Amino acid sequence: MSSTKDAYREIFDAYSPDEFHTLSNIKRFMECLVADPEFREKLTANMDDLAPVMAEYGVDVDPYMMLPLFSSKHLQYRDKDEEAQWPLSKMWSEYMQKIIAHRDMLRDHGATEVVHPSFHKWRQRQISRGMSELGASGPSITHPIVAYELCDGCSVGCWFCGISAERFQGYLPYDEESAPLWRGVVQSMVDHFGDAAQTGFCYWATDPMDNPDYDKFIEDHYHVTGFLPQTTSAAPLKDVALTRRVMALFDKYRCVTNRFSIVNLKLFRKVHAEFTPEELMGVEIVAQNTEALMAKANAGRARERKAKLRAAGKDDKIAVHDDDHSTIACVSGFLVNMVNRTVRMTSPTRGGDRWALGYRVYDERHFDTPEEFSAVIDEMIKRHCVNELQPGDRLAFRPDLEYTQFDDGFEVRNSTQIHTLCGLPYSAHLGRLVNEGDMLVGQIQAELIADGANVFMVCETLQHLFDIGIFDDDPKYGGIGLRPVLIETEIIDSASVAAGEVGRA
Ligand code: SF4
Repeated sequence: MSSTKDAYREIFDAYSPDEFHTLSNIKRFMECLVADPEFREKLTANMDDLAPVMAEYGVDVDPYMMLPLFSSKHLQYRDKDEEAQWPLSKMWSEYMQKIIAHRDMLRDHGATEVVHPSFHKWRQRQISRGMSELGASGPSITHPIVAYELCDGCSVGCWFCGISAERFQGYLPYDEESAPLWRGVVQSMVDHFGDAAQTGFCYWATDPMDNPDYDKFIEDHYHVTGFLPQTTSAAPLKDVALTRRVMALFDKYRCVTNRFSIVNLKLFRKVHAEFTPEELMGVEIVAQNTEALMAKANAGRARERKAKLRAAGKDDKIAVHDDDHSTIACVSGFLVNMVNRTVRMTSPTRGGDRWALGYRVYDERHFDTPEEFSAVIDEMIKRHCVNELQPGDRLAFRPDLEYTQFDDGFEVRNSTQIHTLCGLPYSAHLGRLVNEGDMLVGQIQAELIADGANVFMVCETLQHLFDIGIFDDDPKYGGIGLRPVLIETEIIDSASVAAGEVGRA
């Protein structure tokens, strides 16, 4: 879908060189505000004369023209008509609105309703569940359909890693053997999913900068899919020449914002020293340093750290600012490791006892050739993208939802969303039966119909509740609609999945 790429380019093309310079300096100001406590202190202490602070941090804008961005007295005017009194604040707010709108376009970019309807419906259900389940993380997840790892493990070793990346074991060199396999795998994704394959990116529990050939892989991705994937690195200074090659590709193809994860204040300051504000316009600075005003996802190693603090009787707060950030996982589709030649089918979930790393794993398989990869994708979709409720499916509400019975219906709620079904003649009865948690679809239908309900309406209602993701379809607990298929020489059925023999993270 070239419009996503065009829309991104248009965001930047709309600014004159002078405006671009100004915007990039507002961005630098905002980065300092979020990441650097000394900067925040200096702002507070020098509100009457901020020019020396701006000069010290190399920020070339007049801060008094953007007071709603940082002055507590003026925050109330943010995104209001009055913000026009502070033109730089308004400029930043408008820019952020465009970036957020583009993020939402990226979610739509993964749609495959025409080229692969069953996968599309499955992914839509993951998106709906995410909006209901994932707290503050839900709206920001774009559900790309694939991520490729070009290394085995990660050398950065962040203490807060939400997906608990393993230690770095090696990387895939770009050579005569790997390059055709790589292009074949990416082409297979395009063959299956069309333009939605453009949502792919080339890291997961890995850091791009651990692979010195990373830029060659992503340029191939551009040539096969028509889209330069996003790069996120927590080691942007590990190999500055490589980082600059990636940034040059961004300038050339300009498809989507890159990201630097800032793991400590020292790295933050070094990144600002290395790159000009203009150079960083295509890079979102994700401040993960302990002093930053950013929440940590409660998954993986961050969640373990919290548990240890609680066990020691201490406050489990691990960030200055805490919100309900439940996962860093984003892929509703396939995680491909090109070193080990494995592919897993996954979707984001709340980090917890079921899935500690914040994503479900539906299946995992090995491949050696693009043809095998293609066959594995087909088999996984056939097995897991079963989107119509079957009479033999056992129904329960998701365990994170609290059930309340009403006379004319019911609601299920968590801290993110409230889902209510009231007013239908069978709403209350239906809610009660599903809430029992051990009834089959066919049994529920039979009871409701025996009670006088219309069969078509009952089926439609149950299907709708399934589509919006409020039933517990977790593959670790039997799932809903899992279809037994022949995989290699073994029949894998729902029971083996429920027993954890398939799909453990
Ligand atoms: S957060 Fe990213 S960079 Fe840090 S250890 Fe995990 S995968 Fe590596």
